[in-house]
Amino acid sequence: MTEDLLSLAKRLDQQDSLRKFREEFEFPEYSGEPKIYFCGNSLGLMPSATRGILEEELEAWSSGAVEAHFMGPRPWATYHKHFQEGLAKLLGAKKDEVVAMNSLTTNLHLALASFYKPSSKRYLILTEDPVFSSDIYALQSQLQWHGKSPSRALLSCKPRKGEFILQTEDILKKIERNKNRLALVYLGGVNYYNGQAYELEIIAKAARKAGAMVGVDLAHAIGNVPLELHEWNIDFAVWCSYKYLNAGPGAVGGMFVHSRHHKRKDIFRLQGWWGHREVDRFKMKPEFKPAPGADAWQLSNAPVFNMAGLLASLDIFQRAGFKNLVRKSRAMTKLLEEQIASCSNKSGYRIKLITPGSIDERGCQLSIWAGSYAEELHTRISKAGFVTDLRNPGVIRIAPVPLYNSYEEVVLLAEFLKKWCYYKK
Ligand SMILES: *Cc1c(COP(=O)(O)O)cnc(C)c1O
Repeated sequence: MTEDLLSLAKRLDQQDSLRKFREEFEFPEYSGEPKIYFCGNSLGLMPSATRGILEEELEAWSSGAVEAHFMGPRPWATYHKHFQEGLAKLLGAKKDEVVAMNSLTTNLHLALASFYKPSSKRYLILTEDPVFSSDIYALQSQLQWHGKSPSRALLSCKPRKGEFILQTEDILKKIERNKNRLALVYLGGVNYYNGQAYELEIIAKAARKAGAMVGVDLAHAIGNVPLELHEWNIDFAVWCSYKYLNAGPGAVGGMFVHSRHHKRKDIFRLQGWWGHREVDRFKMKPEFKPAPGADAWQLSNAPVFNMAGLLASLDIFQRAGFKNLVRKSRAMTKLLEEQIASCSNKSGYRIKLITPGSIDERGCQLSIWAGSYAEELHTRISKAGFVTDLRNPGVIRIAPVPLYNSYEEVVLLAEFLKKWCYYKK
């Protein structure tokens, strides 16, 4: 190991004003040592504070039972409101544009019920390739539900031949070419496979000009990259909270609805009692009176145990400051990128970085293409005590997360890769 690089990393860690946050997370272990965890893109680590908050909710149930809906420090009946401010900040949204509820795929269906209203002329959906399985299944079934054929009505933007990421220019061309028939553009904020952050503002502008709605899947973007959903005029967005938001497995997801849709009388929603305005919700009248803002899309009362983890996590984001996190994230990922590019073991595994090199076009995740060797290399990485993940086809994803990863960990992984790999441009 090059001693210099390791001492550089240690110095960066010492100077890092965010390093204390690492101590607020619990790490899985490997031979009695914390594992080096680079998988926050898939499941964020557990904040220790989650235990305390869960315990408080159990206590509220135990000592208050049904009355805890309206009593105590965090009455359950309005539990979703605790997340508005923290989420709005991360999303660049107004407080009433966001709501924590359900799971990502459920929210996607709810959003499509409102924002995908195909007519005989305008019915196409444009999405990305590769697209996450759950998202494409949701889109396909929505099309079928509306009597449209997925093979005809679902368009996708593919990377150019021999390339891994999408060119914004190609997305814009596709929008322009289909402008008379396009109903919806639906993309990830950050692509799950190659880590590309799309130029959402430009794409949303073009889509709107073409008369289409714009929806975004923020599974890999929220808590990872800066977002300005309101400014960018995104119509709707959905996300989960167990990746960079560290809210725990299957934790409550969320939905953003742009304020320009809030007062629309013509909007269709799949309804439930929690979307009814609060003042007379319990009068149980058959006429639905929507709550103001994104709250109106709620269906059911809050799954409190499923939301408690998000409270712990948003509190950490708040204290750390998202701008600081982005700064550290960019520095760590750049260091990892440079080190990977210097892998020069000629008899090692051939690897290639497929995530964009520009900091504006990615978050913390780097995707390494290892092709048919990906599984073997991933097994080696895991046996050495690092947690990364394998995504078919051929990719290993590595996400240095600024809240709990250190520069030293980045360097240790880089040194391991340098021993085993050869970087191919
Ligand atoms: C993680 C992820 C999901 C997960 O969907 P759930 O409904 O939470 O199971 C969906 N889409 C993308 C792009 C993801 O990365």
